Amino acid sequence: MHLYQNQSLKIYNSLSGEKELFKPIHEGNVGMYVCGPTVYSNVHLGNCRTFMSFDLVFRYLKHLGYKVRYVRNITDVGHIEDDADDGEDKIAKKARIEKLEPMEIVQQYSVDFHQIMELFNTLPPSIEPTATGHIIEQIQTIQSIIDKGFGYVSEGSVYFDVLKFNENHNYGKLSGRNIEDMMANTRDLSGQSEKRNPQDFALWKKAEPQHIMRWPSPWGDGFPGWHLECTAMSTKYLGNHFDIHGGGMDLKFPHHECEIAQNEASTGQSPVNYWMHANMLTLNGKKMSKSTGNNILPREIFSGNNDILSKAFSPSVTRFFIMQAHYRSILDFSNDAILAAEKGFNRLMEALENLKSLKASNASSLDIIKWRQSCYDAMNDDFNSPILIAQLFEGVRYINILKDGKETITTTDLELLTKTMNAFVFDVLGLKSETESDNSSDKVAGLVTMLIGMRNEARANKDFALSDQIRDKLSELGIEIKDSKEGTTFSIL
Ligand code: AMP
Ligand code: ZN
Repeated sequence: MHLYQNQSLKIYNSLSGEKELFKPIHEGNVGMYVCGPTVYSNVHLGNCRTFMSFDLVFRYLKHLGYKVRYVRNITDVGHIEDDADDGEDKIAKKARIEKLEPMEIVQQYSVDFHQIMELFNTLPPSIEPTATGHIIEQIQTIQSIIDKGFGYVSEGSVYFDVLKFNENHNYGKLSGRNIEDMMANTRDLSGQSEKRNPQDFALWKKAEPQHIMRWPSPWGDGFPGWHLECTAMSTKYLGNHFDIHGGGMDLKFPHHECEIAQNEASTGQSPVNYWMHANMLTLNGKKMSKSTGNNILPREIFSGNNDILSKAFSPSVTRFFIMQAHYRSILDFSNDAILAAEKGFNRLMEALENLKSLKASNASSLDIIKWRQSCYDAMNDDFNSPILIAQLFEGVRYINILKDGKETITTTDLELLTKTMNAFVFDVLGLKSETESDNSSDKVAGLVTMLIGMRNEARANKDFALSDQIRDKLSELGIEIKDSKEGTTFSIL
């Protein structure tokens, strides 16, 4: 017997605009695809929020006993600036600016992404395919779209014929846009002339001679369009029809709308049963974004090295801050909000410590079974983590009154309380108790402060060889020290 047989999970489906009962295509198994990062810079906390939201989904599905195949890609080619068809590839641009190979950029930021995801205790996906590793599959998908009459070649590029598709399909059904409005709102911009219609989008782009990221294809040397990779990789690993597709709200249009069109055009099937979209993290009321610079990086939070922060916050506190909002609500990041989250997190962890030493008696005055179900009810209601957290604080209240001897609990109920608290806090919300790491990071901070003191002394004695040595050795360890009028500070990279 699996938990999912007793629990009825409802998921808000962006396609229908309603919460629907979740029923996987193959009983007991779930296929889930989530659009991964474009690895041309460090992930900001906004990106991480989306990946933590789907980590929560992955964790809860697993907790319910489903066997989940979770595919999350890495976009390492094809994502053009402004999500457009014309312009520079984001990765190629960064490579040009930094005078590096595009694959060096990809490597550097993929490693960073994985490190950050691990610090946030997000589980690795079951498969993490890259766009450049699936060029052949993408070429095959394009060929089948052309063969079915929905793609056309123009000047060495291949475009999707949106108007033709819309004759028998509904382009715009996910994002709620309609093609007539889209056409009324677009001018024929220069550079789009090789398209039959400005709404058409690129499946394959011809590479100009100076373009480094290029592959041979039946249409000449070029590179795949951004939307195509997700169609090719999701169907390769999950089949033409799978359960869940997720991503940030900003990907609904054009990215996911185009994915649906490509799938329906090439396979004749609607690819996904449940489309899920995570809402945005904002900063100063505006969407966190790489391109505008309105963002905060996870490492700045962990080191406290950002002017908006009064102190450093641990990865688990940051994760708890994210989990306190429902994934479909907008969440604004601020120092006050994360300070409040830290208080809540500490209270929860303290209660979990106290739980270990509670004593059972012959009778229970608390209804633990009912409380446990209310934790499930929260998660079954479209993964409502803030309501779950409120229920966990009800559990904290139980722990505190039991500790004070105001209520009693039987051994069985105490076991159930412990099991439920631990399962939801650690397995489902993915939080970690940080007493040990806090301890060691305090020690590291103490040691660095001591070395900075020794360096200052060496400088006062004009022993610059020693002071430089201390600075360089720390830098090798990833600890950067910065001198300013106010004194010397450090950050751990
Ligand atoms: P990108 O690397 O730009 O392709 O984005 C990776 C993921 O982060 C996508 O699912 C985006 O929707 C998501 N994302 C980008 N900005 C934010 C934000 N401010 N809040 C939440 N998710 C975001
Ligand atoms: Zn995608």
